[in-house]
Amino acid sequence: MQSFKPFYIARLPRILFGRGRLNEAPALIAGYGRKALLVTGKQSFFGTPRWQSFTEALAGQGVEWRHCTVSGEPSPQLIDDTVGRFRKENIDVVVAIGGGSVLDAAKAIAGLLPSGDSVMDYLEGVGRNQTYRGPSTPFIAVPTTAGTGSEATKNSVLSVQGPDGFKKSFRDECLVPEYAILDPDLLATCSPELIAADGMDALTQLLESYVSAKANPFTDALAWSGMEAVKSGFFPAWRGVEPEAGEGRAAMAYAALLSGITLAQVGLGSVHGLASPLGAFFPIPHGVVCGTLVAAATEVNIRAMQTREPANPALVKYAQVGRLLSGEPGLDDQQARDALIALLADWSDTLQLDRLGAYGIAAADFRHIVANARGSSMQTNPIVLTDGEIEEILARRV
Ligand SMILES: [Zn+2]
Repeated sequence: MQSFKPFYIARLPRILFGRGRLNEAPALIAGYGRKALLVTGKQSFFGTPRWQSFTEALAGQGVEWRHCTVSGEPSPQLIDDTVGRFRKENIDVVVAIGGGSVLDAAKAIAGLLPSGDSVMDYLEGVGRNQTYRGPSTPFIAVPTTAGTGSEATKNSVLSVQGPDGFKKSFRDECLVPEYAILDPDLLATCSPELIAADGMDALTQLLESYVSAKANPFTDALAWSGMEAVKSGFFPAWRGVEPEAGEGRAAMAYAALLSGITLAQVGLGSVHGLASPLGAFFPIPHGVVCGTLVAAATEVNIRAMQTREPANPALVKYAQVGRLLSGEPGLDDQQARDALIALLADWSDTLQLDRLGAYGIAAADFRHIVANARGSSMQTNPIVLTDGEIEEILARRV
């Protein structure tokens, strides 16, 4: 019988999902007040005809707006500068329309606008370790990519890149968006490279939360539904041939949303543990880290459990995912785990995700990376890996 241990589900955003639902945003925004701060990327939405009609609709609702852009992964300095710039503007609501970096930046900006505090007061591990008490300015998240699931999470990932860099979270339940608006039509401008990397991020997040040491039946059901969507929609979205691509984009927007919900509730695993130092020290996009490492990380996890913890429930779960993604329900557990590892490696190849070496990462860097890989994500990996095992994941993909 399935066992039901105690679990906790933290706050979620209200969710509007479906093609064309961006059109409902102006009225929702007006419900929060008369002045909005719009945060976008440099090009994906800003400057397009959609931007024009969106801002006209806002004006039609009597909402005045300010605008700022985010390019690349956001830094603490960008957050503090932007908060300083808009602090005296009496912003009623912050609206992010963009990829994961835009959403993460806007989430932190919204959280700090009321107080004007520096984000370094609260950043995990590297900040001044003060307790954030909110309140946050109401925040609405509209993703234009299908990957990070930031629209459903309580954390903003900020980074400083370089040899002494870091990639850490500002995290609090107050930061969860009021609304997540998922309009799959917004993904139509994503390049195949972006669909590939973001899709592998979403899949990795679903898989890692499904086998997380903190997984529960509630998040398992969501992670499973998300992985079903990845199976049906990922390659149609990536190939971009209509009309299947439209359905594929909807499936991937849904999968990414669910990955954000599950990761926020039960955490991730070794791929995301490694993504933190890799992204801090090297100019490697987050989705590429996930796509390039997930097969090796899965294989190392499975082998470690078979050797040290053969009764670990994650072994059965990996087999379930292997049967789902391979479309071969008749495989026994061992065959299904092998099929999963082979399929993940095959997807990395087909999607042409770069290996680590393409970003200047070499064996000499491994020790420094491994020493910084035991952050929050690694804590929920289904088995505690040795340094040697973590290093092996890197070595397979250098
Ligand atoms: Zn991720």
